[in-house]
Formats: sequence, C-alpha cells, structure tokens
Amino acid sequence: MVTEQKLMRAIRVFEFGGPEVLKLQSNVAIPIPKDHQVLIKVQACGVNPVETYIHSGTYSRKPLLPYTPGLDVAGIIEAVGESVSAFKKGDRVFTTSTISGGYAEYQTLAADHIVYTLPEKLDFKQGAAIGIPYFTAYRALLHSAHVKAGESVLVHGASGGVGIAACQIARAYGLQVLGIAGTEEGQKIVLQNGAHEVFNHKEANYIDKIKKSVGEKGVDVIIEMLANVNLSNDLNLLSHGGRVIVVGSRGPIEINPQDTMAKESSIIGVALYSSTKEEFQQFAAVLQAGMEIGWLRPVIGPQYPLEKVAQAHEDIIHNSGVTGKMILLLN
Ligand code: NAP
Repeated sequence: MVTEQKLMRAIRVFEFGGPEVLKLQSNVAIPIPKDHQVLIKVQACGVNPVETYIHSGTYSRKPLLPYTPGLDVAGIIEAVGESVSAFKKGDRVFTTSTISGGYAEYQTLAADHIVYTLPEKLDFKQGAAIGIPYFTAYRALLHSAHVKAGESVLVHGASGGVGIAACQIARAYGLQVLGIAGTEEGQKIVLQNGAHEVFNHKEANYIDKIKKSVGEKGVDVIIEMLANVNLSNDLNLLSHGGRVIVVGSRGPIEINPQDTMAKESSIIGVALYSSTKEEFQQFAAVLQAGMEIGWLRPVIGPQYPLEKVAQAHEDIIHNSGVTGKMILLLN
C-alpha cells in the first residue's frame, strides 16, 4: 500500500540573493519526525535580520540549497519521534533553532535542547518573539557584560526585538536602564518595557543628552545593535571599566583605541550560537521564570502572512521606526 505524502506551504530558497529568492511553494512535503525530533504545527515565526544576511549568501554560515529559513517558531506539537518523552502531541512550544525551517506550516527539529514549553499566558505571536531576541539579550547582558544590579545600561535599538528583550531583562536584574529609539512611538514602547529614560537617535544632540543624564561617571554597559554607526561615541560614553557589547554591526567604523585606555574599557562581541547546550538550558530556565512571573512580555510589531515574506525582509533591513518584533503568521 502506498501512503499519500502530505504537503504544506513553505518558503524555499533555491539560490542566494535578495528578498526575491524567497519562493512560496505549496507542494513541500511535511517532514516526518525521527528519533529525538518533534514535528511542530507552526502558528507564527519570528523574522530576524540574520535571516536576510543568510539568504544573501554573504553570511559566515551558509546553508545547503535549497532550504527553508526561520528559527523562532511558536506552535503546537503535531507528532514526536520514538525517542521523545519530554513533549507530546498538543503541547504549546517555542524554539530557538530548526532542522527543516520555520517559514513553513510545519517544521521539525531536535527536541533535546531547542524546544521549550510556551506558557498559556503568552500567545503564539509572543512565542515567536522569544527565541533569538531574548536568548541573545540575556547572553549579552549576563554572560558577556556580567552586569551587576545597580549598574547602568544603555540599549541601542531598544525598540526592536533584541532591544525590548534587553530592556525587560536589565530592569528585572535591577539595572538603571537607558534606551534609544528613532520615533515617538518606539520611545513610548521602550519606556513601557523597562527603560527608566529614553533618547531618540534622530535628534542631533542626543549624545549630549545621554552624557548629561549619566554625568561624569558615564554608563557601565552599552548593548550595541549598530556598532558601525555608534561604536566611537559609545567609547566616550562609558564609565571606568565600562563594556560595549557588540550584538549587531553592518560594516566597518573607525575608532580611536586610546578611548579605551584611560577608562580600561572593553569592546566585546557576542554570538548567540556560540552558546553551549548547557548555556541554552540555563538561559531558558531564567526566561521561563520571566514568563511565569511576568517581566518577560514580548512586544509584537509588524505582522506579515507567508506570501509577503519578501516584503518583510525588505522592511526589516530598510525600515526605521521599529515598534516591536516582526513576525510571520502561519496556519
Ligand atoms: P530589529 O527588531 O529590526 O530592531 C532594529 C533596531 O535598530 C530598532 O530598534 C531600530 O530603531 C534600531 N535602528 C535602526 N536604525 C538605527 C540607527 N541608524 N541608529 C540606531 N539604531 C537604529 O532587529 P533585532 O532583531 O533587534 O536585531 C538587532 C541587531 O542585532 C541586528 O543587527 C541583528 O542582526 C543583531 N543580532 C545579533 C545577534 C548575535 O548573536 N550577535 C543575535 C540577534 C540579533 P528605530 O527603528 O527606532 O530607529
């Protein structure tokens, strides 16, 4: 007897290039979970800037073609492999990675350390906004910057996916939080999500305003989302022993290394995917607690159906005026 192959809609990338290489296909086979894998019926999938770098073919990690992009899925377990005991059909989950790709109606992935329970109090859109943004923000603040309660932190790009996560986590850890966004609406969201004070990078004198706010001492930690624009200014805003954590950068910048000397400051790069399995589990435990207690509340920005994915990729790179995490809606 021949069993009928079940099909789904998914985005497939057959060649590297601009957003036009994201092709919607309606005849993609629904994967079958094996061994330690689970099959998730995807409800929403986060869109991350890195997914645009990957399909452009210029990123350090290049997937084998063809592939389906998408890492941050929220959905319902549809089936599990024979070795999976931690999850069952019907469980609500979110992810930080994938095997078959998240821009699809169904996706498979290994259940052992990249599938997490999504509490009832968060909806699937919010679930799709947790993975890369919150795990990265946590790694940047706690693992890379070693923040201590009472320190100050300045979050660039505070209105975006990683930035909002950083503001919420920093506030929960007892830091003095300063955020930066480019619009009034973005600034309002930043203040509602943990920042004590907010600045607008589109104002010509915003650096002076930050200097005035932090005074002679300077700021202890800067979470930097666009280092190629801001790094030189960052070094001048730091306190003695201050740290700039480079989360995002889209090109080179000239800095004066002397700016690091008198204050013995550091510039530290962060890469979420350098985290070990144990670190992912540790970050997940803290973030689960944040969801239960209520300080982890993802803010959803623009939402796109699967067929508008190319527009979403265009917008995440070129739009300014971000007001929360961009997501794709499925099912
Ligand atoms: P996002 O949701 O698109 O947010 C981007 C943020 O950058 C917005 O708050 C935006 O603010 C701000 N921004 C845009 N233009 C700016 C400018 N000229 N000056 C200052 N800020 C500006 O992106 P995301 O997901 O938060 O990611 C942020 C960055 O981190 C990206 O470069 C991404 O690739 C990187 N990232 C790195 C890792 C890692 O492991 N290292 C992990 C995740 C993300 P306005 O729109 O209000 O101006």
